[in-house]
Amino acid sequence: MADLDVLAPDSGRLAERLARLSEYHDSTLPGWSREVFSESYRASREWTRSLFAEAGLNPTVDAAGNIIGRLPGRAGGGPALVTGSHTDTVQNGGRYDGIVGVLAGVEVAQRLRETGTRLDHDLVVVDFLGEEANEFGISCMGSRAVAGTLTADHLDRVDGTGLRLGTAMERFGSDPDAALGQAWGPSDVHGYVELHIEQGPLLERSGHGIGVVTAIAGIDRLLAHFAGRTGHAGTTPMGDRHDALVSAAAAVLTVERIACGAPVHGVATSGHIQSTPGSMGVITDQARLWAEIRSVDGSWLHGARRQIVEEIAAETRARGVELDVEWLSDQDPVPTAEAVRDVISGAAEGLGLSWRAVPSGAGHDAAHLARLGPMGMIFVPSVDGRSHCPEEMTAPEDIATGTHVLAATLVQLDKSPARAL
Ligand SMILES: [Zn+2]
Repeated sequence: MADLDVLAPDSGRLAERLARLSEYHDSTLPGWSREVFSESYRASREWTRSLFAEAGLNPTVDAAGNIIGRLPGRAGGGPALVTGSHTDTVQNGGRYDGIVGVLAGVEVAQRLRETGTRLDHDLVVVDFLGEEANEFGISCMGSRAVAGTLTADHLDRVDGTGLRLGTAMERFGSDPDAALGQAWGPSDVHGYVELHIEQGPLLERSGHGIGVVTAIAGIDRLLAHFAGRTGHAGTTPMGDRHDALVSAAAAVLTVERIACGAPVHGVATSGHIQSTPGSMGVITDQARLWAEIRSVDGSWLHGARRQIVEEIAAETRARGVELDVEWLSDQDPVPTAEAVRDVISGAAEGLGLSWRAVPSGAGHDAAHLARLGPMGMIFVPSVDGRSHCPEEMTAPEDIATGTHVLAATLVQLDKSPARAL
């Protein structure tokens, strides 16, 4: 595959850019914090924009605040090949999540230009605004705007200080109202491919350098309210109690147990418990539990959701505690396109690399882009499976390998007629 060998990335340049971008972080916070709308994020995106320009991508910033670069193809317009990811981080986050996908997209475009390789389709590289979940309770803001799923209700959400999301976007220089009307259509996208770090341990454990993502997990989030009866902790016999906190604690174990039985991929996490009165010497009468379940298997997810409610209800009833379960959100799994998966695995094999199929337990911009065209994702290994923490790490050679597979995938998709995808 001689024509693909010339597209091998400049791994030194990639590593240097990764290091450079990591310099933009909030020094008052731990880790590599660069949260959406922060000063460090604003400053970093000035740099990212200049990088897009340096690579010949003629960047523009859309109404939502996405940085969009375009390398024109021979066909002169029409549906584009799209790649990208995000450069915001969670608080106390790492240096690779999202960042690898944006810098790899820029590197592929730059290598195409440097080698005089012209694709038929335009290649569009995007740094999507604010992918990580934020104080407004919304993730993937930029990719939602592109996919047409950012809504006026989202813009009215407020953070802990009462600030509207729409106002925060305006202050950041975006035009939120225009962002609601700027969705792309299916005729804009020939295919979307995102390179991302795995953020889990599967690739490292099995010794595969490349992961071909099967689907992006669906997520169901619940808030369970437990109402019991308060009383004296010293004088109320154990058999006479209706302890809301004990019911919530039992529910935590139920949520965990049900996910442990998932056949394909299933995880469940209880994130937070709040209880009142919350003092020593007093039996708890009110408790609230926030939990979520995720899976790439939609039928398991639906079954688990029903089972969790049934089992928590039975346990709670046995303690004489009242239960009310509220589902805060439910998001179906998003499968990747089979044809794109085949192109990615073929590209890996063509470069002599070992690959395996992997689920994505994390959400990604790609889940939203899937509304616009055939979507695929390439994963590279995360050291120790760690992510969303300062220790997050992917080896430079794995990033270079993943970037090469991204290039080979885009070149092959460029040759694939739309009806084949
Ligand atoms: Zn990410």
